[in-house]
Parts: sequence; structure tokens; C-alpha cells
Amino acid sequence: MRIEEIVYKDYLIFTKQSELPEYVIKIMNEDLQLLSSHDATDKVKVRNKQLPLGVALVYNIVAEAGFSYDELKKFLPLTKKNLAKLLSALYKKNNDGIKNIWIQWMLQFIGFQYGTKYAVSYQASDFVVPDDVILEKNKLVNKLNSGEIDAVEFDEKIKELAKELIKRYEREGRSISDLIHSGGAKNEISNIQRMLLARGLSINSKGEINKVVTTSLAEGHKPDEYVAGASEAITSQYHKSRSTAKPGYLVRSLNELLSQIHISEKEDCGSKKCLELVITNELIAESILNRYDCNGKLITSPPRIGTKIKIRSPLYCKAEDGICRKCLGEIFFKKGYKPGDPLLIVSTSIADALTASALKSAHTGTKLNLQKVDFRKEI
Ligand SMILES: [Zn+2]
Repeated sequence: MRIEEIVYKDYLIFTKQSELPEYVIKIMNEDLQLLSSHDATDKVKVRNKQLPLGVALVYNIVAEAGFSYDELKKFLPLTKKNLAKLLSALYKKNNDGIKNIWIQWMLQFIGFQYGTKYAVSYQASDFVVPDDVILEKNKLVNKLNSGEIDAVEFDEKIKELAKELIKRYEREGRSISDLIHSGGAKNEISNIQRMLLARGLSINSKGEINKVVTTSLAEGHKPDEYVAGASEAITSQYHKSRSTAKPGYLVRSLNELLSQIHISEKEDCGSKKCLELVITNELIAESILNRYDCNGKLITSPPRIGTKIKIRSPLYCKAEDGICRKCLGEIFFKKGYKPGDPLLIVSTSIADALTASALKSAHTGTKLNLQKVDFRKEI
């Protein structure tokens, strides 16, 4: 199907076909032609460059905005983040606003076409484990069954094997390595381990070791192994559902408290009390930037780790109409807040961070992390 027909039939109902710029028609017809006549794994030639199909489709579009292939390369792989960077680079590079909107539209359009044509990015064959790795795994299973190694050692060795497997996939350029790199909970070694090698230690709802599951999701679990895995999943879900309520409650409490508190009109309440902090890590060191120390001096560089520092804090503010500038620090003023503004924004940002971390705990909260301890050495 040609772009004119698609636009006419389904898209851009507010734009007449005749209003499509000449270059949009040309580029989109080229891209749609490439898309319909090639597979995702094919290399195709576009603007004198031999490129993988996905890259070629994007390059053909952004080249129109003056991007060279080397410039585009900086934004590959085109993840959500990189796409945002590419678009902002586009707006900086090209002053033609209308053209930028068309380029953005073309990227969106071809991205949708490409994404729906190849709804599955990974093929079943990507999940076939090489024979020698299977052999290695079977050796470990035999050692476990004969008692040569215990459950903890088995778990460790399987994890090592999973790491090696990932490295090999990356070397071979198999698309499963994209899955590992694409972030979130997916890039954990344990997920690859569970999927391809063996589930390993599983726990029951009381947090006790259930059994060692020696099969993977790819080869399939035996009924008892399936139940062992399911009870762990239930535990994870329980922890998740129990912990998500807490940040929700906290944000309500904070909202109620903070809705009354404003940035004071006062510069300095004159409070003599300060909060003493021990700088134990970089995160804490960074967090006190733009706050005032006890002498009223602005902290502009992070203090050394291991030192103690006293800072002005809203905890000890004596201002009657809110919190003064010295106790609050410059953080809010840098964001454009003025005296008199409410501090409600703080509760939202705290709650967002807490909710995200509570949801993440479903992946890591109930995982067993056993370590061998040599008590003779410890004593
Ligand atoms: Zn104060």
C-alpha cells in the first residue's frame, strides 16, 4: 500500500492528501516499500549505506533533516530514552519547525508499522541453549544429585553459567542480548538463568527453602517443580501488595501536613539548632548540596565521605509563617519557587520514589541470596 492511500484511508484525516509535502510522500513510500519487501534481519541499502532494516528506515527519515549516519549512530539502539534525545537533537539542529513535525510524524508512523509487523522481537530459536552449555548444566545437576555439591553451590554455579551464556549471546549478536540490555527487571541474570538453565533454589510462603528446581522454563518444569515456583511467585505478590499500601498512606499524611506549610517570607529565622549528618556515602553527600550549613554558608560542593557536617534544617525552623530560606536551602528557589508557595510538591516526589521502589520489591524482595560462611574463620 502506498502512503497516499494509507493517509487517505486511515491517518491524518485533518490533512488533505494534496497537502502532504513532496519529501514526505517520497520518503514514506521508500520506507514502506523496504518494510514490505524485507525481513527484520535483512540488511538493506539506503542512501548509499548498507544497514539493518530498522536502522535503514530511521536513517532514511532523519537524513532528510540533515543527520549523517555517524550522527544517528550516537542514538542507537533507539530506546525510549535515545529516541527522546534524537528528537531534541532534531529540534536543535533544524530550525524548520513544520519540517520537524513531519519528521517526527514519519518516525512515529514507520515505528508503528515496523513494530506491528514484527510484534515479536525474539524468535523461539533465540532461546535454544547451546549443547555444550546443556552438558555443563547436566553435570552440575548430577553433582547435586550425588551430593558432591550442595544446593547453595549449585545455585552459585548455575548463576556463573548463566553469566557465561549471556556473554556468548552478546558475542554472537543474538537478539536475546537486546532483551538483557533493555532494562527493568529483565536485565537480571537470574531471569536468564530461570528461563534457560534452571530455576535454582525456590522458597515457600514462609520463606523456607522449598526445593532446588533443576529445570528451566524453556525446557519445562515437572508438576512438583511448577508448584514450588508458584509458591515463590505468590510470596512475591503478597509482599508487593502489602508494601504498596505504605507509600500510599504516607503520601496522604504528607499531603495533609504539607498543605499547611509554605515557604516563609523570612530570609533567616535565626534558629541556632542544626541537624548533624554523617556523610556515609555519595548519595548523602550529593543530597546536601544547595543547603546551608550551621554558619549560614551555602554548601556548593559535596563534603568528603566519612566526615560529619551540621546543616540548617526545616526540622528546627522557627519562622512562624512557614519555613525560612536558610532552613529550606536553595533547592526550591532554583526550581523557581517563591516565598509564599506551598511545599506540597515534596510529598508527591517522595511518594513517587517510594511507590516505584515498593513495586520493584516484587522482583527482588523474596529472592534467596544465600552465602556460604566459614564459621571457623568468622570466630
Ligand atoms: Zn528557619
